[in-house]
Amino acid sequence: MKSYREELWFNTSSRREYINITDKVQEAINKSRVKEGLCLVNAMHITASVYINDAEQGLLQDYDDWLEKLAPHEPISHYRHNNTGEDNGDAHLKRQVMGREVVVAITEGRLDFGPWEQIFYGEFDGRRRKRILVKIIGE
Ligand code: ZN
Repeated sequence: MKSYREELWFNTSSRREYINITDKVQEAINKSRVKEGLCLVNAMHITASVYINDAEQGLLQDYDDWLEKLAPHEPISHYRHNNTGEDNGDAHLKRQVMGREVVVAITEGRLDFGPWEQIFYGEFDGRRRKRILVKIIGE
C-alpha cells in the first residue's frame, strides 16, 4: 500500500475566509500516484474547518452570514472562552458546526465526487499561518 502526506499552509488576509482547495488536494493525489484509495483532508487547528459543498459565491456568503448569526464574533465579552484573553470564542464554535475533516474516495487517480462537490478550507480566526493535513492511502 502506498501512503502520502502533505501539509497545505494558509495565511488569510481576513479573519474569516472560505477557500476552495479542491485543485490542491487533487495535486497531492497526483503526487501520491495512488489510483485507488482514500484521501483524508483535515484542519490542524481548532478554529478552522475542512468541509465539502458547492463552489458557489452566494453560498459562501450565506455560510458566513449563517455562522455569524449562530456565533457572532462581537461582542467578544459574550464568550467565556475569551476570558482567557483570546478573542476567538466564536471561531471554536464555527469550527464545530462546519467540521474538522473530509474523506473522499480516490478512483482512477481522481477525487470521486458527487455532483457539484468541492473541498473547502473554512477559516474562522485567520491572519496567521495555519495548515491542513492531506493524507492519502491506497494503491
Ligand atoms: Zn481560542
